[in-house]
Amino acid sequence: MKRRDRPSPNFDARQGSGAVEMLILHYTGMRTAGEAIERLCNPAAKVSAHYLIEEDGTIWRLVDEAKRAWHAGVSFWRGCRDINGVSIGVELVNPGHEFGYCAFPEAQMAALETLARDILARHSIPPRGVLAHSDVAPQRKQDPGELFDWARMGRAGIGLWPDFAQQAAEPQTTEALQTALRAIGYDCPDTGTLDNATRAVIAAFQRHFRPALCDGEADAETRHRIAIVARAV
Ligand SMILES: [Zn+2]
Repeated sequence: MKRRDRPSPNFDARQGSGAVEMLILHYTGMRTAGEAIERLCNPAAKVSAHYLIEEDGTIWRLVDEAKRAWHAGVSFWRGCRDINGVSIGVELVNPGHEFGYCAFPEAQMAALETLARDILARHSIPPRGVLAHSDVAPQRKQDPGELFDWARMGRAGIGLWPDFAQQAAEPQTTEALQTALRAIGYDCPDTGTLDNATRAVIAAFQRHFRPALCDGEADAETRHRIAIVARAV
């Protein structure tokens, strides 16, 4: 595996114990790797990540893991709003939904598996703490998106991928659905109605746990999977 250093000035100090509890995955959403690296190292852009992985598996280290990189923005998970402060951010080079979203190549996925295992061995990040940017910012973000293979990651021991063939007590009302999504960790409203904010959270759940259909509709399969994940976290 090729690893290179390209230090970014875009970081600050982690507060408190500095313990890392989450691994957040992103896509770059730009036309080329070079363009993305420039931006993540540009002081004016005020964004960064700890690592960037190119399509051929080359890994760039941009920010030291001990420092707080600026990748998540306004975000939330399980009561925490400073996701940058408690996470490591990894960017996967991909044009994203804006510039021609495409599958993540094998070499890139294999490099991510190796890097993620390495990170998980050095920090106490539980399986439920391996997340998409869209999980922690469902109203703003779609990355790394429905083409990212979370099932494969789960089989490799990275993140949560429960057995969806299990029986479960599916949430039947919108209120119960919202409660289950909040129990998983999402910033989901408790309005009891399928408003736009709730639909965005459902779509984020689908991108991660039910990628075959990400329409924000709580159909039977989505409700089933929400129940299984809520029980597993
Ligand atoms: Zn992102």
